[in-house]
Amino acid sequence: MVPLIGPLIGMSVDALKTALAEAGVPAKAVAMRRSQLWNWVYGHGAREFSAMTNLAKDFRAAMADAFDLARPAVVTEQVSTDGTRKWLLRGADGHEFETVYIPEPGRGTLCVSSQVGCTLNCHFCHTGTQAWVRNLTPAEIVGQVMVARDALGDWPSTAPGRRITNVVMMGMGEPLYNFDAVKQALAIVADGDALAVSKRRVTVSTSGVVPMIKRAGEEIGAALAISLHAVRDDLRDVLVPLNKKYPIAALLDACRSYPGASNSRRITFEYVMLKGVNDSLAEARDLVRLLAKIPAKINLIPFNPWPGSPYECSDWAQIEKFAEVVNAAGYASPVRTPRGRDILAACGQLKSASVKLRASERS
Ligand code: SAH
Ligand code: SF4
Repeated sequence: MVPLIGPLIGMSVDALKTALAEAGVPAKAVAMRRSQLWNWVYGHGAREFSAMTNLAKDFRAAMADAFDLARPAVVTEQVSTDGTRKWLLRGADGHEFETVYIPEPGRGTLCVSSQVGCTLNCHFCHTGTQAWVRNLTPAEIVGQVMVARDALGDWPSTAPGRRITNVVMMGMGEPLYNFDAVKQALAIVADGDALAVSKRRVTVSTSGVVPMIKRAGEEIGAALAISLHAVRDDLRDVLVPLNKKYPIAALLDACRSYPGASNSRRITFEYVMLKGVNDSLAEARDLVRLLAKIPAKINLIPFNPWPGSPYECSDWAQIEKFAEVVNAAGYASPVRTPRGRDILAACGQLKSASVKLRASERS
């Protein structure tokens, strides 16, 4: 009897090959077996080894003894009036994290979490008010995409018209503080023989972990989004406290040398619109000036309120005026439409329900 090696989902190619050899697969068959498993698990979403009907029965049985194909458990699924869906998922140790699917005409974006909670405490972000708990594992990051594909009936991964066309690391947590797991997971998400989401449609969003930005470009190769939110250090120090460590000039320097940035692969700069805080037209002009020599897109995000949030969203008229300045500088359609607000699924509203529940039990 082969001893249980553990979860297969999230394992790197090399680790899986080693595990297959340990499970008794002959050396000359390891590469082929690895790719057959990969195809069933990530290509077709197989949940049981017994479903892998073109593989010999004794091999399937040996694999079932060696591995499990468990995804994170689905605690709840909510559907917004605008079609956005949010799943609350639970890892094996009971900690919970969220994933959001945002359908749009001709495409669908899955917003994936990288940590339970966040260490960074950005002042306007609900996740930032939740204590940091732990990093997610590669299995839990990849598992978010698999759970969403299961629920959306979005298999096989290479079928035309798939509903998940884009993956953004914009859920809970700071992806560049969980670099190795995010890198390992996105390698599976973007592999054409695995979850097959085109690398050009995978985005890592960071609040500005400057020393990791170059490595992200070289080793992950995804599109980059920067949560800028202010054009002056004194204000950014308050909104995104990480700015005290890595100020705007250092952040923009890292962007200028981001491997792979070009006019066809622009860096997205996210800018949350906070009423009376960062939304003046002088700031819009400064924003455009600041980004002048960087291949950039600008994404204005109307602030999404959450219970007890200390800011208000800018008035729509002000967002439009701000957007006009940005537009006039050559940036197309810069305002992000809020989605799933009714189920607290919009940017920055995620916070695991178990934490909210514990808080309400206390009061
Ligand atoms: N930690 C990463 C990725 C997760 S946050 C980062 O900060 O980039 C994804 C985006 O949502 C970030 O740009 C973040 O600043 C923004 N955001 C956070 N709270 C928000 C809120 N309440 N309303 C609108 N956007 C928010
Ligand atoms: Fe963390 Fe990003 Fe929220 Fe800041 S905005 S607290 S980095 S999840």
